[in-house]
Amino acid sequence: MITSHPRPLNLILLGPPGSGKGTQAQMLAERFFLYHLSGGDLFRKVIAQGDSKDPLVAEIKARYDQGIPQPDHIALELIEKEISRLHHKTGFVFDMFPSSLPQAIALERIVKVYDLRDPMAILIQVSEEETLVRLTKRKYCQFDERVYHPQDISYKKGRCETCGQVLITRSDDQPDVVRKRYGTYVQIIKVLSEFYKSQGRLLEINGEQSIVDVFRDILRALAPHL
Ligand SMILES: [Zn+2]
Repeated sequence: MITSHPRPLNLILLGPPGSGKGTQAQMLAERFFLYHLSGGDLFRKVIAQGDSKDPLVAEIKARYDQGIPQPDHIALELIEKEISRLHHKTGFVFDMFPSSLPQAIALERIVKVYDLRDPMAILIQVSEEETLVRLTKRKYCQFDERVYHPQDISYKKGRCETCGQVLITRSDDQPDVVRKRYGTYVQIIKVLSEFYKSQGRLLEINGEQSIVDVFRDILRALAPHL
């Protein structure tokens, strides 16, 4: 039997804010030559580059600042645009997407339309307590969006390493917003993890270890599915 050239992997990173899923997504993108498609980055790009007088942009920003998830039609429109632009060249690592069951179901439809491989979901598990500790401590440069952690030298200096701007706590990293985000996350993740588990496409990973150890566990869990 002649087998066709294997299609690129598609991965979905699930986990609470601060679980390091963005970092893991980037590492996986590099390891498997995939495009890192971050829902959060797409929204931040719209907020930063869009016309602030545009009611749609203002709406996206208001939700973003309050830690409220974006509606499905907006998330899907932005994601599908990126997929249609890039699917001939690469597979994807989705990060902060899907963030609802309708989005997950729509993604199943989209992968069929573009003849992509079924996505494998990777759930990075981190408790609420640990999430609060991680997020309320991190600082951020408004100018170039770099994130700093307490162990970084620039964090102690309070200024961005690349541009020298004063570091601030991101509006969605304030403790009350973090608690709200985690509560929302728990509701969503229960539904999404059941969905991918029922498809036999969920890998559960302990996120409360070092970046390197989390990555090693992901690679081990992925190995039988490559
Ligand atoms: Zn900066």
